Amino acid sequence: MVGKTKGEILEELRKKDQRIRELEDKINYLNNGVFGGEKSFICKLFFENSKESYIFIKNGRIIECNNSAVKMFGYTSKKDLIGSIAFEKTSEKMDKDMLYSRHKEAMNDGHEKLVFDWIIQRKDGQSMSVEVTITRLPTGGDPVSCAVLREISERKRVQEIILEKEKLYRNMFETNHFVILLIDPNNGKIIDANNAACLFYRYSKERLVNMNISKLNILNSNEKIIKVIKTAVEGKKNRFYLNQRLANDETRFVEVHCNQVNFNDKDLLYFIVHDLTKMKKILSALDENEKKFKELFNKAKDAIWLCNLNNDGTVANFREVNDMACKMYGYSKEKFMNMTIMDLRAPEDYDDILKKIGKIIKEGHATFESVHVSKHGDKIPVEVNSHKFKLFGEDVILSIVRDITNRKWTEKFLRESEERNRRLVELLPDPIILQKDGRILYINNAAISFLGGENRHNFIGKDILKFVDFHPSENKTLTMENLKDEINNFSSFDEVKIIRKSDNTVLDAEIASTVFDYSNKKATLILMRDLSDRRKAEKYIKLFNDAIEFDKLKTQFFANLSHELRTPLNVILGTIQILTLYLKEKSLQSREEKLENRIKVLKQNCYRLLRLVNNLIDITKIDAGFYELSLQNHNIVNVVEEITLSVAGYVEQKKLQLVFDTDVEEKTVACDPDKIERIMLNLLSNAIKFTEPDGSIFVDMIDKGKSIIISVKDTGIGIPKDELKYIFEHFRQVDKSFTRNHEGSGIGLSLVKSLIELHGGSINVNSEYGKGSEFVIELPIKTLEDNSTIIREKSKNEMESNLIEIINIEFSDIYS
Ligand code: ADP
Repeated sequence: MVGKTKGEILEELRKKDQRIRELEDKINYLNNGVFGGEKSFICKLFFENSKESYIFIKNGRIIECNNSAVKMFGYTSKKDLIGSIAFEKTSEKMDKDMLYSRHKEAMNDGHEKLVFDWIIQRKDGQSMSVEVTITRLPTGGDPVSCAVLREISERKRVQEIILEKEKLYRNMFETNHFVILLIDPNNGKIIDANNAACLFYRYSKERLVNMNISKLNILNSNEKIIKVIKTAVEGKKNRFYLNQRLANDETRFVEVHCNQVNFNDKDLLYFIVHDLTKMKKILSALDENEKKFKELFNKAKDAIWLCNLNNDGTVANFREVNDMACKMYGYSKEKFMNMTIMDLRAPEDYDDILKKIGKIIKEGHATFESVHVSKHGDKIPVEVNSHKFKLFGEDVILSIVRDITNRKWTEKFLRESEERNRRLVELLPDPIILQKDGRILYINNAAISFLGGENRHNFIGKDILKFVDFHPSENKTLTMENLKDEINNFSSFDEVKIIRKSDNTVLDAEIASTVFDYSNKKATLILMRDLSDRRKAEKYIKLFNDAIEFDKLKTQFFANLSHELRTPLNVILGTIQILTLYLKEKSLQSREEKLENRIKVLKQNCYRLLRLVNNLIDITKIDAGFYELSLQNHNIVNVVEEITLSVAGYVEQKKLQLVFDTDVEEKTVACDPDKIERIMLNLLSNAIKFTEPDGSIFVDMIDKGKSIIISVKDTGIGIPKDELKYIFEHFRQVDKSFTRNHEGSGIGLSLVKSLIELHGGSINVNSEYGKGSEFVIELPIKTLEDNSTIIREKSKNEMESNLIEIINIEFSDIYS
């Protein structure tokens, strides 16, 4: 019964009524005979077997009933019912008095029959609603009524359901947030509208109900809307799109779902209205977005495609490909649509690609490298990034495919260049070590032999400090910690001393370090340069340069020497020529004075030659180690004073002042007095030579206990600072421009130095250019044990003439 329309239920009830009426007629007919004769037998048969329940009531008690009535009341035998008070078996829910009065009413004259409801109380305690139709039987005597009982529980229930449903539907209709209109399909009149409809159209319910639907539409005229309604009624189409106008004149684009409904036996249409205005806007925005995506898709620099998946997990045809895919593979879009990914694979990639597709299907995505083949047969190395997802309910694979030809080429190039670099580093003559946290990661051949090893495996992974470190004097170690400050940038090569631990040798090396990325780790690259060979080379270069320099000096010396030799020789030759002339003219007497001068010149130049030759011989002897001193104990103060004072005449001639001073009168020293004279005369002749008239020369002797100082100081031209270190060297002369025109071979001071050193002493010079010079001799106080102080044995005259000769020779440079 549930699910039947109200109309159907009412119809069913109507039919039942009809049947009851027919049966009642039959009973009336039969009753005329009241169960007598043949007829009566037939009636009894019918009565007993009727499905309807009958009870006959007389004086308030049941006098007869049929089997259906016994069953209805839940009994098994008629006896249980017959004789009982008719309305005794009534549910407590019901008012019995009402039943009695209704029955009484039915028994009154003028009533053909009366129908009312009765809730009976069955034997099992259950109650049952029945409809009672009471008919008074036309019998004589006490009135007898016939009650036909019909179960109405079902009808009641259906009525309740209908009411409930109606309530529910009403409730649903009213509270539904969908806009619902109930429309009369015959004229388009709105029969009912829910709250949502009133809110949507902004009309009150009173205004909306009875309004014609066409009033809500903009473009559709009344006829048109009726046509739409007609199509819906015919069941051809039940979805429409309409442009509607609200009470406030705003317009809305709506979708209408309509269906027929029977309401109060009337066929109506209900409209469910969806506002699609926003949706329409969203759709157009989506449309716009789709256009943009389409553009992006086609302008992408990678090939992009979409493939369907077959039910068996294989990949079906391409569904969408972008422009780049067409360009990359050489196929048109149409052609692509008839192909699958398998048509792009390289033959050798077949199995692999199946595995990849399996992975995408299983895990939802995969990124892998593969080789594809273009339409023209070109192999294209690619990187594929695939994702599986659902598109409109179907499984699809979206793949972004990048041509990695360039990357592959670069990788190959890098691999090759890495190999080249590795070989280069191997061949480099300089040691290279790569270390991290003190451990050796790499070592080249040069470093292996530099560290005294043979095999690379002895080094790799080991502590670098096991093999090499800075010398303790460098105050640092080769570990990363200590190199840290220096490795921020490539540090320049530093010359350092390092220790090779294999044989504890100290080596000179240059070391530089830099940060180096090695397998994504920050390591230190240590570059070393063995300086042993360079050091040797530098030594040889110095020797070679010294030899060249010495050779140059010698050449210069010989040039000077030639000049020194030629000048006096020229003078001597010139003088001899003059003397020869004098001889020819036989007028020697008259030129006596001149002759004397000439002889003096001859003599002086012979002295010069003699001095030169003496110096040469002495210096050569000293250099060869043949020179010997004839040492004897002498009062050195005396020796120095005598020789100093003996040149006083020359000094005066030069208009110079000579001052001798000593803080000791006697000091015995084992010395060769002739050599001390040579020393003093050399120093004094230099002082005279390089001091202008009116200058002074001081000779001082200072006793220092263990040594004696002899100082020869002048107020002359001085010696330039940078020349000071050279003046004691053989063949050195201060630049000619400083010494003006003074003669000299440049052997003097070197001979002086050698002679002093032979005595175990030393000589130093202090000089300020333009102010004067001071030569300071320090002689150690040494004496010969068996020898007492010697006083020179020669006669004073002899000594004097000897000294004069020596002075003449030593002073021969100074032009008188
Ligand atoms: P020379 O025999 O040429 O004088 P020396 O060896 O005696 O050679 O001197 C070397 C050089 O030292 C001189 O040429 C001169 O330039 C410089 N010299 C030596 N003594 C003095 C001095 N007292 N004052 C200035 N220059 C001097």
